[in-house]
Amino acid sequence: MSEESTVESRVAPPALSCPKCEGMLPSGLGDLQCTLCSAKVRIDHPITRRKWKEEKVGCPECGKVLIVGVDKRPAHLKCASCTHHFTLTPNTPKVEITCPGCDRQLRMKRKPGARRIDCPACSTAFTVKF
Ligand SMILES: [Zn+2]
Ligand SMILES: [Zn+2]
Ligand SMILES: [Zn+2]
Repeated sequence: MSEESTVESRVAPPALSCPKCEGMLPSGLGDLQCTLCSAKVRIDHPITRRKWKEEKVGCPECGKVLIVGVDKRPAHLKCASCTHHFTLTPNTPKVEITCPGCDRQLRMKRKPGARRIDCPACSTAFTVKF
């Protein structure tokens, strides 16, 4: 099996808002573009970079825990124990939203902009915005 396998990083960069439109910026570091107003913003955060470097992940193939040692995401890693290659993908921030129809907690990826949600439990349609 040489399928490309991925592991999601557990270290999320800080949630930041766009200096121009105050909307939520996409998660990440480096040169980001605001998905709401298209402003280009340069974000750096040494603490996140250090945490990324020191993050420990389990090899998806053999389970051995590796120290990533790379201060960016995605990171391409090779397990020292079984030589399996895998990609450590950026953390996707998730939020819990309460459905206005049935009060159920819905867990979803936190992405900038407005999104229409159809509650899987009661089919209430509503809009969330970050
Ligand atoms: Zn913006
Ligand atoms: Zn391994
Ligand atoms: Zn509902």
